[in-house]
Amino acid sequence: MAEATDTDPIEESKRVPESTLAEISDADGKNKTRIICRRCPSVILSPCQAKLVEKEFFLPNMFQKNERAPLEGVTLTDYWHVSDMMTFDNVGFSKTVDNIKYLICADCEIGPIGWHSVLDKTAYYIAVDRVKHG
Ligand SMILES: [Zn+2]
Repeated sequence: MAEATDTDPIEESKRVPESTLAEISDADGKNKTRIICRRCPSVILSPCQAKLVEKEFFLPNMFQKNERAPLEGVTLTDYWHVSDMMTFDNVGFSKTVDNIKYLICADCEIGPIGWHSVLDKTAYYIAVDRVKHG
């Protein structure tokens, strides 16, 4: 099973505390640190490549690429927005369902760590809650 080994269950938190957002973003709302997979050392984004946005979007609970997306999930609000797929250091995509592709770790394939609508080629969203910053 794809259970996170973290002590804080990510499925329960909906909003990222303001203090945390302030720590990981600079004055322009860009990411201060690298954005890394929670389960492996894969770097998803380099510093200053994404911008913090508020946008409500329902993400299913974490699952492995070869599994079916669970029905249970959580509506998350805090995302890193990237406008060009080439900006990512490493990222993978799930199959498209209802015009949505979920973003997954390119190496360990855990996800969804974010989402992308195939109808908008200039918007990729990484959930602040589902990645590591450092
Ligand atoms: Zn990974």
